[in-house]
Amino acid sequence: MCSCGAKRPETSGSTTKPPAAKAKCPLIPEGCEYLNKPHTVEAPKKNFDKIRSKATADKGKPGKHKFPGDNKESDAIIHEVEVKGRKVKVIMPKNPPKGKHTPSIDQVAEGLGTVPGEQLDSFDQVVVSPNQNPDDAYWAKEYNTPNFSSAATGGKNGVTFYPKKTPWSQEFVDSTMIHEGGHTYSQKLWKDDKKKKEWEDAIKSDPKSPSKYADSSVGEDFSESLVMYSLSKGTKCEAAAKAQYPKRYEILDGMFKK
Ligand SMILES: [Zn+2]
Repeated sequence: MCSCGAKRPETSGSTTKPPAAKAKCPLIPEGCEYLNKPHTVEAPKKNFDKIRSKATADKGKPGKHKFPGDNKESDAIIHEVEVKGRKVKVIMPKNPPKGKHTPSIDQVAEGLGTVPGEQLDSFDQVVVSPNQNPDDAYWAKEYNTPNFSSAATGGKNGVTFYPKKTPWSQEFVDSTMIHEGGHTYSQKLWKDDKKKKEWEDAIKSDPKSPSKYADSSVGEDFSESLVMYSLSKGTKCEAAAKAQYPKRYEILDGMFKK
């Protein structure tokens, strides 16, 4: 079970239509519209392609896994993805759900290619679940959104993807992997209270937060900031991102220093 309350709704806000916001934010260069405080930090695939490293999935071996919501193990295919000199275990269901969509092993591998190496070190595994998140009923109540359905969660072992009604785009796999993996990462990082406090101070000091969703908790802020940071670092968007989130950027630069 996910212990962090980490979840991305199945339909996240699209940020691909920037004109109104653009007029208000002249400092944000074209192609960096995800810096306009969207609902969640998303960007077109070409932005993720710029930061994507090569990732290779093996053919996989048959195995067993107890997927979320199940009380016994079922057939699975256990893959190993090689990325940035690391190996990440990816557990896929042998029998994907009918009429719903889960990310493919290649999409998962490509998504792992967008995650910063230091963050990847906190992942034990990625699971693609054939079942809906068993906690959805709880969140439906909590958010007062009947039929709430999580697309993915990040827990202490790594990221779990759930079936969606619509196909997964690569860019949604990418942003979800970084965001949910950010919860896995921050849970480990914030065992040191000082590190958490440092982030809370950055939230107070920066002029704005990276997304509306980021405002829901310090953990969501960190995960959304990671997506923003991964997308902007080393690109033409970096200066504008630093101007808006100077403290967050400074902390993340320190963390991801090679
Ligand atoms: Zn989250």
